[in-house]
Amino acid sequence: MNAIRTTCAYCGVGCGIRATVTGERAVKIEGDPDHPANRGRLCSKGTHLGETVGLEGRLLTPMIGKRRVSWDKALDLVAKRFRDTIAQHGPDSAAFYVSGQLLTEDYYVANKLMKGFIGSANIDTNSRLCMSSAVAGHTRAFGEDVVPASYEDIDAADLIVLVGSNTAWCHPIVYQRIRARCDAGAKLVVIDPRRTETAEEADLHLPLRPGSDVALMNGLLAWCREAGVLDAAFLADHLSVPADFWEALGEGSDLWSVAKTCDLPPADLRRFYELFAATPRTVTLFSQGVNQSLSGTDQVNAILNVHLATGRIGKLGAQPFSITGQPNAMGGREVGGLASTLAAHMDFASDNRARVQRFWAAPTIAEKPGLKAVDLFRAVGEGRIKALWVMATNPAVSMPDAGKVREALAACPFLVVSDVIADTDTSAFAHVRLPAAAWGEKDGSVTNSDRTISRQRALFPLPGEAKPDWWIVKEVGRRMGWKTAFAYDRPAEIWREHCRLSAYENDGARLFALPGLSSAGNADYDSMTPFRWGGMPFADGRFSTPDGRARLVTVTRKAISGALAAWPLTLNTGRYRDQWHSMTRTGLAPKLARHREEPLVEVHPDDAAGLGVADGGLARVATPQGESLYRVRVTAAQRRGEIFTPIHWTDRTSSGGRTGLLPRPLVDPVSGQPGFKQTPARLAAVATRWRGFLILAGEPVRHPACLWATRVAIPAGSLWELAGNGDPVKLEASLPGGERIEAIDAARGTRRIAILSGGRLVAALFVTESGELPSRDWLIGQLAESEAALTLLAGRAPGQQADRGAIVCACFDIGMRTIVAAIRDQRLADVAAIGAALGAGTNCGSCRPALARLLAEEKIHAA
Ligand code: SF4
Repeated sequence: MNAIRTTCAYCGVGCGIRATVTGERAVKIEGDPDHPANRGRLCSKGTHLGETVGLEGRLLTPMIGKRRVSWDKALDLVAKRFRDTIAQHGPDSAAFYVSGQLLTEDYYVANKLMKGFIGSANIDTNSRLCMSSAVAGHTRAFGEDVVPASYEDIDAADLIVLVGSNTAWCHPIVYQRIRARCDAGAKLVVIDPRRTETAEEADLHLPLRPGSDVALMNGLLAWCREAGVLDAAFLADHLSVPADFWEALGEGSDLWSVAKTCDLPPADLRRFYELFAATPRTVTLFSQGVNQSLSGTDQVNAILNVHLATGRIGKLGAQPFSITGQPNAMGGREVGGLASTLAAHMDFASDNRARVQRFWAAPTIAEKPGLKAVDLFRAVGEGRIKALWVMATNPAVSMPDAGKVREALAACPFLVVSDVIADTDTSAFAHVRLPAAAWGEKDGSVTNSDRTISRQRALFPLPGEAKPDWWIVKEVGRRMGWKTAFAYDRPAEIWREHCRLSAYENDGARLFALPGLSSAGNADYDSMTPFRWGGMPFADGRFSTPDGRARLVTVTRKAISGALAAWPLTLNTGRYRDQWHSMTRTGLAPKLARHREEPLVEVHPDDAAGLGVADGGLARVATPQGESLYRVRVTAAQRRGEIFTPIHWTDRTSSGGRTGLLPRPLVDPVSGQPGFKQTPARLAAVATRWRGFLILAGEPVRHPACLWATRVAIPAGSLWELAGNGDPVKLEASLPGGERIEAIDAARGTRRIAILSGGRLVAALFVTESGELPSRDWLIGQLAESEAALTLLAGRAPGQQADRGAIVCACFDIGMRTIVAAIRDQRLADVAAIGAALGAGTNCGSCRPALARLLAEEKIHAA
């Protein structure tokens, strides 16, 4: 069996994988030692990709409403409804909402169909929610959306600054590269309101006030100017500086004013400024904490201004570096899959429109930028968009003010959803559902955060009637009447056309160009190895503006509004280490489920005390847009006045944790990116009479009916955490049939029920009003085992209390309690010693920051 070289399905690090198919839907996953992004390493999510390739929950046939139909019937209907809608209401009444999960070839065909043939630019992507402020910032400063850095810059940096990025969790393999460089002597500064695992390992953590990034970076630039570390020659020869730039910068940029604005100790701020000024080889990485803001583009330009004015760009180890969230957000940017770009790094200037129309031999071309995501769904809700096609994304969960987005989807006259999964919160509203190919079945290319293009290759045949996205879109294009323009038979043909367009009439004005690849044969495409386009951009000091100069952009700090009486807290949202987006894939992997089993709201101890909110209890987060329930975690890692919730839970997996309902539909005025990181909110404790859990082989007959019910996958089944006030007897409706044994003590409020089938445990329900609940681990291990009934109801093996606690090391399934016990009993002093004793942290390394934190906590405990 030969290993197939492909790429990971998840984040923008873009790790290479060697996948060896071992069965019909089984694959062994290893890091690709030859891939430049990861050199053989994978994080917990990539390592467990093999657990997610089954066909559970897949959509495998086209569906019109609830009817299974043929592809011909479904495609004819989609083409007809789009054609009729456009004929009656014009091109702008149609829209596509696509995804950074699409491959470049999928993206290219969708963009071509909408902009060149339908004639509207109403195609936007969920990447709008992730990094569009970086796109806008790059374009303002460089004249083109080019990420100048590469991962090798990290290897050469002496100072690494992370702004708004929990890299240890969200880009773990980049973080390991950073750690390796820090182990060799580089310094790490983390700028983030939260004390994340990334921040805990930094030489300096600056927990700034949310929204004060521009002030901090402007202060840094003013400091560098004062310290004489601006690059005068670079400024003179390669930069355009607005007349008011230095004057505007000066206002409020002295150390004391900035420290006050950012709510930081002046000494810490000074230390950062001095370190930056003294370290020419500095890489500043930034991600969603910068981008997902109402001033996201200004925050990006404030970072770029510092790097440009100090000449720290286009040099090995000295770069600004936007790291993207999704696996192919960058490929989407290259084809022009955002509503605000046309194609191949061209905008809507008339010469670009004429050029692209000529190249595509298109009957029309979009005249102007289309609607960006938030405006697009607003237009759906207002009836201006009447036909919408959502591909490979779940806006009913992920958009801000998701309740309104659901109302819009419900009201849309014609909604098509192409997806891998049969039932999502979005597809519940679809008129037509089209079965798309999943990771492991797709064939095409992706571009990662550092411009490295890699092939993603199919491992398995297409299941059922699933088809690749490019095929689905081109079939609709052909049925709408454009047979020749969409006559693709394979992704290689689309790839060659994409490369030709990138080089078409490109005299060097656009850095993005893949001319040599436009003649690649099918075999060359099939065997393509990873490569980075663009060399080291801007190394010669030439930028993609008409005069070749980069632009410093005047950005001024906005007044930060104080807390409102009704909404005294600020809500921040983000990711967990072992989960991805709405968990349709990672949620299938039991090993990834146990790191965080429930959606938590994290809150500072002082706020928790003031609100009467207890650690481990439930609390309701409310904003003007909506509300949702969460399990409470009280932690000093939060700033006072700020709370944090995860983005992953959906209606399919939880009665609470619906974070998408909470943020405002407000966006950065330049990029259109929503400001997810700062929503006025309030928090209130929610009392429950009882709590419990349900363990099942398989899924429940019906979702447990109670106030709090959240699901995670376990081997061969599901685990539900439960809490409520009503009669817990209602929970029994979720139990399967079988032999029932029970121990119910009404006086003490305990209810323990085990269901056996053929002498084997198939379900266990434990509820208590006041007592302890037993370990889930042991009971999970007993599913499908024949164990003595009384032992099952005890919830543990005789004489044993097996409770590992929350899983810290997902690779070796090692829980927090096991690690803490080993630290205490074996006097383990560092992460390496834990690795030697237990194996934790020795594979993917994603848990190493968590191990370091446990060691630090144990030191405090021992002292
Ligand atoms: Fe996949 Fe992890 Fe690499 Fe991201 S860092 S591409 S999730 S293995």
